[in-house]
Amino acid sequence: MLTQIINGKIFTPQGWLNDGSILMRDSRILEVTNCDLALIGAQMIDAKGMYIVPGFVCMHAHGGGGHDYTECTPEAFQMIIDAHMRHGATTIFPTLSSSPFDKLQRAAGICEELMTRPNSPVEGLHIEGPYLNPKMAGEQFADAVKSIDEREYKTLVEGSSCIRRWDASPELPGALDFARYLKGHGILVALSHTEAEFGDIRQAYEAGFTHAAHFYNAMPGFHKRREYKYEGTVESVYLMDDMTIELIADGRHLPATILRLAYKLKGVERTCLVTDALAYAATDGREINDPNVIIEDGVCKLSDHSSLAGSIATSETLVQTMVRAGIPLGDALRMASETPARVMGVYERKGSLQKGKDADVVVLDKDLNVRAVWQKGRLVEGTNTLFSVDNLKK
Ligand SMILES: [Zn+2]
Repeated sequence: MLTQIINGKIFTPQGWLNDGSILMRDSRILEVTNCDLALIGAQMIDAKGMYIVPGFVCMHAHGGGGHDYTECTPEAFQMIIDAHMRHGATTIFPTLSSSPFDKLQRAAGICEELMTRPNSPVEGLHIEGPYLNPKMAGEQFADAVKSIDEREYKTLVEGSSCIRRWDASPELPGALDFARYLKGHGILVALSHTEAEFGDIRQAYEAGFTHAAHFYNAMPGFHKRREYKYEGTVESVYLMDDMTIELIADGRHLPATILRLAYKLKGVERTCLVTDALAYAATDGREINDPNVIIEDGVCKLSDHSSLAGSIATSETLVQTMVRAGIPLGDALRMASETPARVMGVYERKGSLQKGKDADVVVLDKDLNVRAVWQKGRLVEGTNTLFSVDNLKK
C-alpha cells in the first residue's frame, strides 16, 4: 500500500520542509520530497498544516496504560506498548525494574516473542537493576536490589538475544567487569542510582558505562562533607565529554533551568529524553488502586509526599516540556527520536524521516499533541483527526 502525507511541516535531518510530502510504501519510507503533487494510486492524507515528525524512541519506561512490565505477561507487555504508541512512541525498549532472576528470564522470553511478530515496535529489553547501590535505590526498591552476581548476568545474556541495555551502580564490587562483559556483547551499559564521584565515573566510563540514566535523579551533585567540598556524580558525568545522558522531561522530575543547563552542556547529540514512566502513564483517565502512591500535579508521588515515585509522562509530554523550557522544537524532537535511536543502535532504521527507514511517522498539532501515528506504515492512532483526500484529487 502506498500512502502520501501532504500539507504539513516535515521535520527532516536537513531541517523543516514545507509544501513537501512523505511517501510510505508498506512498512518503509519510500521518499521524503519537496513536491506535493498527488501520486497516482496513493492514499492521500492531509496533515492540515500540522507538524510531521519522526516517531519517538522510548528507551526507558516501566509501564503505561495501567500495567507494569514486571507483571511479566505478554498481555501486559502488549497493553503498555499500545498505550505508549498512541502517544507517539514507535520504537520501544521495555524496561524491567529490579527483579529476581526468574522474572528477568521470563521478561526476556516475552520480549523475544514480541520481537518476532511482524512489524513489532519492540527493539529489545532494558533492565534497570537489580545491581544497585542500596543507599541510592530509594525505599520502593530496597528489597529488590542486590550485589552483582556474575553467574546470573552471564546466564541471562547468553541465554537470550533481546537484551539491549542494562543499568547498574558503577561503585558496586564487580561493576567494571559487568560493564566490560556487556559492552563486549553489544549491550548499552548505563549508570543508575549511584553516588560515584569523578574517579569512579572515569573508570566506569572506560569500562563501558557510557550512558547516565535519569540524569540528576538518584545521584548527588556538588556537596560538602565536613569542611571540604566534593564534585558529585552530576558534575562527573558532565566532565566525561562523550558520556550520553537522559532527562526525565515530564516537567516535574527536573526544573526547566536544569533541562536547559543539561541541553547547553551536553548538547542534542548527547541528550536523550525519556519518560521513565510507571503504569499510571497513558491510562486515559482510569483510576489507580495503589494505597502507596498518589497522582498529583501530573506526576506520581509516594502517598506521604516524601518523594516522587515516578513519572506518568508519554513521549509527547517530553517534547512539550522541552519547548516550554525554551528549547527549539527541532532540537527537542531530535532528543526524543534521533539521539535515543543512535544511543540504542537502531539509527539506520529509526529516529529520522529519511528514504528507506521504517515508516514511523507522527503528526503533532500546534500545541504538540499527537494527532496521528504510523508505526511501520500502520496507522495506530488518529483515524478521526486527519483528512483523507483521495476523492478531492480525482
Ligand atoms: Zn527507570
